[in-house]
Amino acid sequence: MLLVPRNLADDIAAECFDYGSCGVHTEDAGAQVRLNVYFEAPAGELQTLNAGLIQGLSAAGLWPDGAQVLPGDVELERDWNEAWKEFYRPVWATENIVVHPPWLPVMVEAGQMAIAIDPAMAFGTGGHESTQLALQAIEHAGCSGRRCLDIGTGSGVLSIALVRLGAQHVTAVDIDPVVIDNAKRNFQVNLGAEAARTRLLTGSIDCIRGDSFDVIVANIESYLVRPLLPAIAAALRPGGVALFSGLLESESERFTEWLAEAGLLVGKTWSKNNWLSCSSQAYC
Ligand code: SAM
Repeated sequence: MLLVPRNLADDIAAECFDYGSCGVHTEDAGAQVRLNVYFEAPAGELQTLNAGLIQGLSAAGLWPDGAQVLPGDVELERDWNEAWKEFYRPVWATENIVVHPPWLPVMVEAGQMAIAIDPAMAFGTGGHESTQLALQAIEHAGCSGRRCLDIGTGSGVLSIALVRLGAQHVTAVDIDPVVIDNAKRNFQVNLGAEAARTRLLTGSIDCIRGDSFDVIVANIESYLVRPLLPAIAAALRPGGVALFSGLLESESERFTEWLAEAGLLVGKTWSKNNWLSCSSQAYC
């Protein structure tokens, strides 16, 4: 267990995964954040793992003064796909959209939306700021009657919101074939017959083959989305809007330059806990 400053918690968690962690659970601890970092390893290796992890974090400049290692527990081998579900609870991703596990239904009022996500191995359970900010951008974009593209669909959560908000059709793509089945199941559970207004493809923007869209959303890290920007700009219909999430606030200036290189101009931005999403349109 690590006690770390809030502003570095996401970077430290990412570094823990790079170091071989199979899961990191984050909890608020006042001004700091407690990271429960899980490793699959023999119990006797805990101390060595701790020491190696702190050494790795220090080398990466991610072990500031005041960060602490707290005593950790050894757990018997568990089914990690099942175990982490204990932490998965309904989360109000935006003021009007709640994302919840299928086994914990949530009653919503008129004008609100509940999305049931069986996460399996896919990203997109509503708990992460990047998903929340992408949903906020989607709510703002006005997608009713529009043709939409969701690049990096993961669990399918953004596509489900798009359809529920009245999109005429949503194409959802992801390079990870493992998440496609999961997204398909989530579409069926949440959209029923309206799933016919979606299509799911394994791959990236290159699978759309000349198609064009009124709304394109991509919740993908900036360095991964950068090479896609020219194709995204080319696939936007006149007056269309591209929504980007998964950006860090510190990357905002650089990302704005990348958008400009692709002929896109930043419109509105949304932020939460160092994360950022933005809308953008083609230069006229
Ligand atoms: N859309 C979901 C959400 O907002 O919660 C999941 C977003 S998750 C951060 C990013 C997803 O993008 C992953 O499922 C990953 O496999 C996919 N991805 C990464 N690079 C991609 C690319 N070049 N084209 C399509 N999908 C990509």
